[in-house]
Amino acid sequence: MTVDIHQPYDDNNIFARIIRGEIPCKKVFENDQVLAFHDINPQAPVHILVIPKGRYVSWDDFSEKASDTEIAALTRAVGQISRDPALNNGYRLIVNCGHDADQLVPHLHIHILSGKELGAKLIQL
Ligand code: 5GP
Repeated sequence: MTVDIHQPYDDNNIFARIIRGEIPCKKVFENDQVLAFHDINPQAPVHILVIPKGRYVSWDDFSEKASDTEIAALTRAVGQISRDPALNNGYRLIVNCGHDADQLVPHLHIHILSGKELGAKLIQL
């Protein structure tokens, strides 16, 4: 089911459970504010998800309610991960927000895709 960006935060969503260590992940980065791990169903040779540890449903929620510290931490984490030599040839960031973008997990996540030519920027519908 897709995410309604106005829904309250669900503490049992899959990424909340990964943050609490109840479900394993292949971690690539962690600090006080941010966790990053490999997507379970990669769409490219490199497919990393970067999430704030705070309780934010979507970009909408995060950009309105997160502190400047949290926003800076997420931005800098994405930058740090993306500077890995494996991403030297370029990468794509995707943030699906709400129903029309087909967001499926109700915890903000930034997709980092890399490792091959990624093709069309948008699927023509
Ligand atoms: P969305 O469609 O919400 O933008 O992306 C959700 C992403 O989360 C998908 O790419 C999906 O493969 C990934 N995902 C869903 N469940 C899990 C999980 O349990 N572990 C990991 N590592 N990724 C997950």
